[in-house]
Amino acid sequence: MRFLFIALVSTLIISACTENKVEDYNKAFSSYSEEFVDELWKMYPGWASSVGFHDYDSVLVIPSDETRAKELTFLDEQLKTLQDFPVDELSAGNQTDYYLIENQLKSAKWGLQTFKSYQWDPSSYNVCGSFAELLNSSHAPLEKRLRSIAYKLKHVPAFYAAAKKAIKRPTKEHVELAISQNQGGSSVFTLDLVVSVNKSKLEQSEKDAILLDAKKATAAILDYVTFLQKIDLSKARSFRLGEKLYAEKFAFDIQAAYTPKEIYARAIAHKRDLHTKMIKLSHELWSKHMGNKPKPANDLDLVRQLIDQLSLVHVSADSFQTAIDKQIPTLVEFVNKKKLLYLDPKKPLVVRKEPDYMAGVAGASISAPGPYDKMANTYYNVGSLSGWSPEEAESYLREYNAYILQILNIHEAIPGHYTQLVYSNLSPSLIKSILGNGTMVEGWAVYTERMMLENGYGNNEPELWLMYYKWNLRTTCNTILDYGIHNLNWSKERVLNLLTKEAFQQQAEAEGKWRRATLTQVQLCSYFTGYSEIMDFRDAQQSKLGDKFDLRKFHETFLGYGSAPVKYIRQLMEKEQ
Ligand code: ZN
Ligand code: ZN
Repeated sequence: MRFLFIALVSTLIISACTENKVEDYNKAFSSYSEEFVDELWKMYPGWASSVGFHDYDSVLVIPSDETRAKELTFLDEQLKTLQDFPVDELSAGNQTDYYLIENQLKSAKWGLQTFKSYQWDPSSYNVCGSFAELLNSSHAPLEKRLRSIAYKLKHVPAFYAAAKKAIKRPTKEHVELAISQNQGGSSVFTLDLVVSVNKSKLEQSEKDAILLDAKKATAAILDYVTFLQKIDLSKARSFRLGEKLYAEKFAFDIQAAYTPKEIYARAIAHKRDLHTKMIKLSHELWSKHMGNKPKPANDLDLVRQLIDQLSLVHVSADSFQTAIDKQIPTLVEFVNKKKLLYLDPKKPLVVRKEPDYMAGVAGASISAPGPYDKMANTYYNVGSLSGWSPEEAESYLREYNAYILQILNIHEAIPGHYTQLVYSNLSPSLIKSILGNGTMVEGWAVYTERMMLENGYGNNEPELWLMYYKWNLRTTCNTILDYGIHNLNWSKERVLNLLTKEAFQQQAEAEGKWRRATLTQVQLCSYFTGYSEIMDFRDAQQSKLGDKFDLRKFHETFLGYGSAPVKYIRQLMEKEQ
């Protein structure tokens, strides 16, 4: 099948040389990308299930040397086919798809040959989540899902045996994570699965077989945990990537025009600029909010005290969701009045209490339908504070005070993530919904926060600006600390100091960020990098076009390219002019 397909593409490319060249290239590319996705799901069935493609739900890939060799062959074959296309001749949508596919293939290859996290990150071996997802989903009747589970379950012992073989000199942090996640996750086999099997309409013999295999799976997981607990961590690998690996991962994951060093320098300068603005505003606002209280000598202390005071302005725990609900129409009205971009009135956003399976993760998030479930609703999930202790709730409500809550709604909903999503669905590309660029997506949401305020949202209230700067400082410092930890060997103390003293965060939030940065790499840079790229591009367009620059048109055109890396959108937009 593969070879037949490659032959077909070559024929199309050759015949394309004669007439209607461009159209034929594009046709050939479209069929290639469809075939590519089919092949992708065969290679990565777990990924397929997670985006809602359920043909391979019953497959569990054994993480062996053989599998990795097969993956490498797949990547090389696909790269070869892809590179036969004359990328410059493709339509804008296909060009960006081309770059996304190419990046995915090269990045996966780099992962196998250079990064090798399959050796040092034992938390990458965990089957529990995929079984839990199958159990909790509703895409097929329970009995059908249980039969997929029954098949998949048989391979769990082989899965963990291969995992044990693959691990070489892991990091302490990832060993600890793997232990806690596998230990915690195993309850899916001892509790959830048992309940579902018993209430199903399967034959008794089928039920018995599943429950027996579930016991074997649990044993394999616990054996893996024991194996990890015995690893001598005194010789552990450092979780810090170092400059070379960091720069390479940054290039694949972020896909920006900047190098890590450049974005780090930029973030440092931006932090300085934010501090200057915050100090100035805090002096102006001091007596209005603090009365006769003497100003502290240190300027950053002054900012902190004022921020703490303003954080007391917050909604009550019961009205958290209503407050968010009420704000959405205000944001829509503002965007329309200022003609910032077109919002489709036929696609309103549904605010809901977060569903039970998401409970515990407070805050707000967008649930968008996956690429195989386009008709489903998009929800704005709002975490409920019920069950929280009064202290926890109060601390949370201060964090998401009346000012920050508005900025959060801009970021998550309008005109942030939700609006971007509506636009990207207008030019449907399976490639972009599977391989979409997170830096562009987060960058857009962060950009809109600033853009709304610049256009007068909140009547230029200085308090809102001050709190916005604090919020923006968070994404800025995420970049600084991620770079510092992985490239400059920054200590935990230094990072906590940065976050609590210079970014005005609480100790708990800072500790959580440190932990996240020891377990992930580069991702924390995506927000600030994407934001900087979009700001740069907009400013360049503004000075190039002068009076002819139209903000609304800029936004709509920009979003029209879908979730592609900003540097490619920029290239394509500049070419169009
Ligand atoms: Zn309070
Ligand atoms: Zn976001």
